[in-house]
Amino acid sequence: MRDVLLVRFGEVHLKGLNRPYFLRKLVDNIKRAVEPMGGHVWMSDSRIYVRDCPDMEACARRVSRVFGVHSVSPAVEMEKDLQAICQQCAAMTKDLKGTFKVLARRSDKSFPLDSMALQREIGGKVLEGNPNLTVDVHNPQYKLNVEIRDNCYLCVREMEAVGGMPMGTGGKAMLLLSGGIDSPVAGFQLMKRGVQVQAVHFFSFPYTSQRAKEKVFQLARILGEYGNGMLVHVVPFTQIQMEIHEKCPDELGTVLMRRYMMRIAEAVARRYGCQALITGESLGQVASQTMEALAATDQVVDMPVFRPLIGLDKLEITGIATKIGTYETSILPYEDCCTVFTPRHPATKPKLDALAAAEQKLNGDELVRQALEGVTQYRTWEEEET
Ligand code: ATP
Ligand code: MG
Repeated sequence: MRDVLLVRFGEVHLKGLNRPYFLRKLVDNIKRAVEPMGGHVWMSDSRIYVRDCPDMEACARRVSRVFGVHSVSPAVEMEKDLQAICQQCAAMTKDLKGTFKVLARRSDKSFPLDSMALQREIGGKVLEGNPNLTVDVHNPQYKLNVEIRDNCYLCVREMEAVGGMPMGTGGKAMLLLSGGIDSPVAGFQLMKRGVQVQAVHFFSFPYTSQRAKEKVFQLARILGEYGNGMLVHVVPFTQIQMEIHEKCPDELGTVLMRRYMMRIAEAVARRYGCQALITGESLGQVASQTMEALAATDQVVDMPVFRPLIGLDKLEITGIATKIGTYETSILPYEDCCTVFTPRHPATKPKLDALAAAEQKLNGDELVRQALEGVTQYRTWEEEET
């Protein structure tokens, strides 16, 4: 008898002919997640199992963060001996109180009892051993799963996992990552759909501090835990912001700045083989997130821009941020480059020709070139920025 994890996957089931490809990716990603913890992954009968990890509880938490995994059950693997199975089931349920049901599945048809008979037999033994449990077949608090396959697998706990699609099956995209609440959530939403996400951060030293940048790195580390770490490109942005501030109409400042962010993000994205940009914008949240302002930022790039939060309100976004673990870091009070140069009365309906005219006053190509030349990289799995 030994402890194993039973890993269930959701949507990958629906992939028809591509299913083997999605499954292979999923298994590889689980391997990469648990092998550093000593765990061993294998697949049998279209089920994924993990075994041999010294700390199964920690391993289960790690696996529940792998995209594509629907739920994880700490389970026991044992011989197909009816008496031993009944004993083990009684032991696993001895501290439970409330209602339960036994769910037996027999894929090994040579096992003498069929599923119904197994359920009756095991249910009886559990009830005998624990007077605090009663049977409820419709809406039980606990489900005791019994699977008779190559071996017998037993579990009562099922931990919800992140779901989504295996990382790496959805292409590659570049997230514009600020230190706020929204952009980490936006990145997470695309990662969840199997997209491999890198980040670009615009840094306006000395208007924004080293600590503000550290906060962004910390957010990238948290997001990176759902995959294989995250690569962050840090773009020196002070010069562009100063020029916009000095030479352009104040009310267009934010949208102009955002247009330069998009241009630079697209250039970095192309350099690293990304096919799309991701931002944390939500319609109407601030002046630069009106439909006109969004159109004005989209106008300067050719790549698709994904805005997964566009229809969510702040409370919903905050809820996701809390659930995925970025919220506490996002609300740390360090300044962001957007807040430093924020106009007092930003235009909510910027005109495209006014923006073009303002940009004429800047030596834009040269500013972009210089910014791109100064880009540094931070890899969440390494100590230093390079
Ligand atoms: P967030 O909470 O993500 O900071 P926000 O509501 O503060 O979003 P804005 O400051 O208008 O919104 O920024 C909109 C989007 O632009 C962000 O979600 C992010 O994708 C991107 N962005 C803003 N500032 C930066 C930055 N310094 N570096 C990289 N991307 C940024
Ligand atoms: Mg922000």
